Amino acid sequence: METSWTFDIRSALLVGAMLTLMIGLVLLVVGRALSGAYRTSIHWWVGATLLQPVGFVLLSLRDSLTPLLTILVANAFVTMGMAAYVVALRHFFRLPSGRGPLLGMVAAAMLTSLYWGLVDPDLIKRLIAISVVLALVLGTSAAIIYRHGRGAVRHVAGVAFAGATAIMAYRAIYLAFDPSQVSTVFQLTHVQLLTYAVGSVLPVIATIGFLLLCTERSQHELELAARVDYLTGCYNRRAIEELATQSMAAARRHGLPLSVLVLDIDHFKRINDELGHAIGDLALVESVARIRRTLRTEDVLGRLGGEEFIVLMPNADGSSAMNAGERIRSSFADQPLPMEGHLKTVTLSIGLATLAPMDGEFSQLLQRADRAMYAAKNAGRNLVMPDPMTGWEPAPGEKAV
Ligand code: GH3
Ligand code: MG
Ligand code: MG
Repeated sequence: METSWTFDIRSALLVGAMLTLMIGLVLLVVGRALSGAYRTSIHWWVGATLLQPVGFVLLSLRDSLTPLLTILVANAFVTMGMAAYVVALRHFFRLPSGRGPLLGMVAAAMLTSLYWGLVDPDLIKRLIAISVVLALVLGTSAAIIYRHGRGAVRHVAGVAFAGATAIMAYRAIYLAFDPSQVSTVFQLTHVQLLTYAVGSVLPVIATIGFLLLCTERSQHELELAARVDYLTGCYNRRAIEELATQSMAAARRHGLPLSVLVLDIDHFKRINDELGHAIGDLALVESVARIRRTLRTEDVLGRLGGEEFIVLMPNADGSSAMNAGERIRSSFADQPLPMEGHLKTVTLSIGLATLAPMDGEFSQLLQRADRAMYAAKNAGRNLVMPDPMTGWEPAPGEKAV
């Protein structure tokens, strides 16, 4: 029994166009459930999946419509569609727009299509020019994904774009060396087949890859949100406990000191009572900003709860932590805190403890810092008080507290 089959590039193009449109609609629907932060990016991506099919349909009508539509307009839609992926990815990774080079690539595609399509028709030169432009546009997407994407999921879209780039580059080189391979656009050569595979497979795989990037990003943001205090943006208690446990292990491994400051705003209740809870919230936000300004980059700031904060100071011994605490204390005491038109001097009571060999768990270190903070409260507030266990020694002439 003899079976024969024919492959019609025109039908393949139309099926590819339909698939692309459908995957674009899927993205539009699924994208609604994702964070609003990616909306612009998703809209550009959907735009890409709408522009390309128009180009494919026009390309497939080469024998029925004018070259103006089936060459110039068709190539414009395909190139703009591919360029829209780049814009979408730039939005997604929050990169500067870089529209100039991209517009240049689209313009190059249109000018070469115009010249070698309508003015002085030359199929090979036109195909080479379009392949080079598409390789550049697709390669830009691949580069953005690999430079800025994280995790394994980036490979789905990354490989799709890198593969499409390779195919376009291959077509340009192949046709430059062996132009006899193609005499019409729809000729069934391996080069043209690969090209149409790019047209119909790339949008599907790349869009799935993009959706994966979106879901991975929102997962990451959720995890981050669970670690951050919603009001002040510094770490919350849960995250601080995790980080502190890691810092303790690192300090022990490397034989380095680790200090902890516990800071409590003095008479914070009065701010709420006098100025209202909303201004109280603002005071907390401003306080965090002020504390941050005095810290080193390796210090970690967290909110233990209410108006109580903690600073983890890796590689800081008792006396440098004492200096840091003193810097924070005076930055509050010397300068009133601005709170929406109100200026009020706010002071802090600070307790300091340094990691000791007997601290089995972070809670023990924290407890000593907390006790020292209460000692500062009892001693009159607006003070930094070291835990008696810390190795802090008063400088000669300075009175120990
Ligand atoms: P002390 O000097 O002894 O620390 O006095 P205090 O008034 O600061 O201490 P107290 O613990 O009695 O009161 C803390 C106040 O902080 C009570 C609470 O209303 C307020 N507070 C806690 N969390 C928030 C918050 O998120 N926003 C605002 N505005 N106030 C808060
Ligand atoms: Mg307080
Ligand atoms: Mg308190």
